[in-house]
Amino acid sequence: MPRAHKKLQRLFVDTGLSAGLILDLDKNQANYLGNVLRLKPGANVILFNGRDGAWLAELTEASRKSAAVRIVEQTAQQPAPADLWYGFAPLKSARLDYMVQKATEMGATRIQPVITAHTQVNRLKMDRLRANTVEAAEQCEVLQVPDVLDEISLSDLIDAWPDAHGERILILADEGEQAASPTEKLGELAGKKLGLLIGPEGGFSEEERTLLRAQPFVFPISLGPRILRADTAAVAALAVIQSIIGDWR
Ligand code: SAM
Repeated sequence: MPRAHKKLQRLFVDTGLSAGLILDLDKNQANYLGNVLRLKPGANVILFNGRDGAWLAELTEASRKSAAVRIVEQTAQQPAPADLWYGFAPLKSARLDYMVQKATEMGATRIQPVITAHTQVNRLKMDRLRANTVEAAEQCEVLQVPDVLDEISLSDLIDAWPDAHGERILILADEGEQAASPTEKLGELAGKKLGLLIGPEGGFSEEERTLLRAQPFVFPISLGPRILRADTAAVAALAVIQSIIGDWR
């Protein structure tokens, strides 16, 4: 992403993008640009839709209730699609927002709540999860907005895992694993399709750990000698994965 436009506000729009197009923004976006940022017609913003890269646009109308832009030119190509599935046992609201935003910033491309024995959250607000991915993408110049998949139970996840011929490896952050650095072990997964699973605040149950570790596609890792909070573990695990075998290389 060229940093030339780093100061411009970035907005996600779920529509096609092409030079010369005039686009009406939704009420929330109009309010944000007009009333919060107090942008005037002529100001520039960056639009992206998760498919066609980033586009420079010029505000043609900005009032309390509505705003319109004219698309000027493409400023960044859509990057090659990455592929990193991220599963987590949902946490309570604010930390859940944080977890989903950080997974987006760290390059997860599919995000899925996984319900485990010790998961403390009952009803998930999927719209809120999706809104968090868009907000994180807008703030962090992410152009591929992750898909938020419907929640799944751990046993259904295992049954449905695409593991034909080791097609996709599920990296399990296992707090019960012998404390060690995951860096060497992760090196074995270079070139593989990957998923990462983070457990709940209460950890995985012993039955769940036994079930997971019995799967040929599960790859347990330790995240060092300390027990990290689930949201910390998520960022730590995504960082080591991206730096060793992911898109940070
Ligand atoms: N309350 C649990 C306990 O006392 O064992 C700790 C669970 S931990 C807060 C939540 C999740 O973060 C774990 O299920 C695991 O996925 C991950 N995690 C935390 N620390 C870890 C570590 N040192 N190694 C591997 N995974 C870890």
